[in-house]
Amino acid sequence: MKLFNTLTQSLEEFVPLDDTVRIYVCGITPYDTTHLGHAFTYVSFDTLIRYLEYSGYKVRYVQNVTDIDDDVLRKAREIGMEWDELGRRETARFLRDMDALNVRRPDVYAKATDEIPNIITIVQALVASGYAYESEGCVFYSVKQDPDFGALARAIGLCDYTSMLKVANEHGNYPDDKRKRDALDFVLWQAQAPGEPAWDSPWGPGRPGWHIECSAMSMHYLGEQLDIHGGGGDLVFPHHACESAQSEHYTGKVPFSRFWAHTGMVYKDSEKMSKSLGNLILIGNLLKEYSADTIRIVLQSHHYREPWECCTEDFKVAQETEEMLQRVRFLVGRNASGEDSMLRNRFKAAMDNDMDTPSALNLLGEAAEEALAQHDTCVGAEVLHLTTVLGLCV
Ligand SMILES: [Zn+2]
Repeated sequence: MKLFNTLTQSLEEFVPLDDTVRIYVCGITPYDTTHLGHAFTYVSFDTLIRYLEYSGYKVRYVQNVTDIDDDVLRKAREIGMEWDELGRRETARFLRDMDALNVRRPDVYAKATDEIPNIITIVQALVASGYAYESEGCVFYSVKQDPDFGALARAIGLCDYTSMLKVANEHGNYPDDKRKRDALDFVLWQAQAPGEPAWDSPWGPGRPGWHIECSAMSMHYLGEQLDIHGGGGDLVFPHHACESAQSEHYTGKVPFSRFWAHTGMVYKDSEKMSKSLGNLILIGNLLKEYSADTIRIVLQSHHYREPWECCTEDFKVAQETEEMLQRVRFLVGRNASGEDSMLRNRFKAAMDNDMDTPSALNLLGEAAEEALAQHDTCVGAEVLHLTTVLGLCV
């Protein structure tokens, strides 16, 4: 299978380190409801994992929940709820939405707050090796100590310090924090602020910074090197660049992840779907109107790396595809078997080409039409078999 690697900006032959593919995908920050952008990311990686397994690999999949974070604490204060209760509520809601979309749960679903001892161990090692420094109860990663910092940023065109700083600041890097030596330095351990929850550490009470949890969790459950690290496209910088830098200097193993895979952003009315713009399409609402298969078909009819604009026409087309597949199911029945190696090979060729689900769906649609026209239960059975690889439940 060829997979696009964000780090090298090229299609590369995907071969795992050993017979088990180790994959880590950044999870949610549980303070708001799940929207179509989340669904695009998690359905895309769910499809990738299903396809890797179909191709004969074993897969170990880890995803995190950022259950302690500025956003969680702010939202909890706003609505007068305990931060951990808010986290549990929104995590449960996310899992319910993903279950409804037939997204299989990861092998490990890890919470940042369960990872504090491992986080502290890594931060201590980074301080000892000079890549991080303590300042007034906080610990920061020192970007100037790391000439390799930002390989992922350069890969996506953020080639100099100024452009990196601009994007980092848009993602909560607090450039004016007087405790930092350099504006681009990022926090590994955050000193306790009044009224905030805290854990004991060698630097006093505090909580982990955003990026460090993913290094700690992925290494804990998957080892020091990953085969695939995934997430939404907005995480490449700073989140994944920071994760990569701290992980590689902690383990000495480069690269931290052999493949970096990112999903495109979903737009609504020409704007990126985001909480701050208030243009979210919530999964809970979509599920009241459409079946899980319809929603999955909409998502898979867009290539996972491409940004796309959500429109109602997409849902209409997906419903037509779903209805056609249901007619194939009626033709074939539940127990019929059949194989069409040509269709199977063409499906695999599409999926082996950087998981080209739009082409794979087109193939299945054409074959379904043919099966219905010819009353061909053999082709029909093959179509239905391949829809299961895409996680559809026709
Ligand atoms: Zn992450």
